[in-house]
Amino acid sequence: MTSQSTTRLRPASNGVKTLPFTKEQIEGLITKYPTPFYIYNETGIRQTARDIVAGFSWNKGFKQYFAVKATPNPAILGILKEEGSGADCSSLPELELAERAGITGENIMFTSNDTPRDEFKKARELGAIINLDDVRHIEFLEKHAGLPEILSFRYNPGPLRGGNAIIGNPKEAKFGMTKEQIIESYKIAKQKGVKRFGLHTMVASNELREEYFVETARMLFALAHEIRENAGVELEFINLGGGLGIPYKPDERAVDIGAVSARIRKLYEDAVAKNLMPALKIYTEYGRYITGPHGYLVSAVRHVKETYKKYAGLDACMANLMRPAMYGAYHHITVLGKEGAPEDTTYDVVGSLCENNDKFAIDRKLPAIAAGDVVVLHDAGAHGHAMGFNYNGKLRSAEFLLSPTGEFRMIRRAETGEDYFATLKF
Ligand SMILES: *Cc1c(COP(=O)(O)O)cnc(C)c1O
Repeated sequence: MTSQSTTRLRPASNGVKTLPFTKEQIEGLITKYPTPFYIYNETGIRQTARDIVAGFSWNKGFKQYFAVKATPNPAILGILKEEGSGADCSSLPELELAERAGITGENIMFTSNDTPRDEFKKARELGAIINLDDVRHIEFLEKHAGLPEILSFRYNPGPLRGGNAIIGNPKEAKFGMTKEQIIESYKIAKQKGVKRFGLHTMVASNELREEYFVETARMLFALAHEIRENAGVELEFINLGGGLGIPYKPDERAVDIGAVSARIRKLYEDAVAKNLMPALKIYTEYGRYITGPHGYLVSAVRHVKETYKKYAGLDACMANLMRPAMYGAYHHITVLGKEGAPEDTTYDVVGSLCENNDKFAIDRKLPAIAAGDVVVLHDAGAHGHAMGFNYNGKLRSAEFLLSPTGEFRMIRRAETGEDYFATLKF
């Protein structure tokens, strides 16, 4: 994925990150379930899902497909289904997660790459919309699963050609196909009897600039025209992909989905009015934007250590939340009960893995921390628990859903030693 936004925009509200639960509520939960664990705020997830649907309500047939990989839990998928969302899947287990959450048929978008035949078979069985990553996959799909009535193709705009400085240069991205290949794909599929068509791209990740998404839509609307002219295909939908960023840092601003959508609407209505493309459905595949800000990793401080630096050692580690170690990502940290205290002490906030990059924060100014304090890592709801792993014998944590009425419901139990040993043969 390309372009991490560096633009600093106006702060969200007052630049303060708040929590949807109290210290007392967490202390109550900890008496029954040990830290670390994840909490997802149902109210926030529903609200964000509704904002997206409302933002695009001008488009007849609009659909948001939640990127399952962000938060692969059927309880979350079920909530999103109730809000009208489909599922964007990229593997067999993700297809099964969608199925078990009651999402089937064309409410599933199967956007995979380097795809095994069994996954195409399962996608066909479920009646999912298959979004092909390569022109060669048409034949592969036909051979192993048969061609469906509807197909979508993933575009990679590649090197700039009279192109767009905002979208950048995704030629290093492994995903999607060139313009020549995609036009060829529509011709081949049409000739093989495919009746309905979609177009997809996704070249952003955690992008906060509105402009980016507007320009992506502009590019795809122009491509829809070329596809009509050169392949004789009228698209049924355009899938704008995911990649909508969230304000991890307190001074970053959330993307205003209503504003983005209003600008896309203008381009759309213009293109349709000039008969450059048909009136088609807009689809999105947002993941992070929906669950990211509404998930929290709760962890207790085990030890405080002081050598050349001060360390706050948590009972969570990068096996629970890998983003800081993997991408140098910022996750805001609140020390419960010390929200108002001066942030006058500098810590590396670390986990217990035998890897020196197992750090949630480096040189972070926090209130003075003591062993036993409980910390909350913000914005962990997407690509958080999902990226968990078992290195060093670490076990994946439980997940809880905070209901609109303030109850915590366990939606995944913590792994146990038996789970760890279950696959070993000796
Ligand atoms: C990861 C992914 C998404 C979701 O990305 P977010 O950054 O979470 O919005 C959507 N579509 C595809 C194909 C993806 O791989």
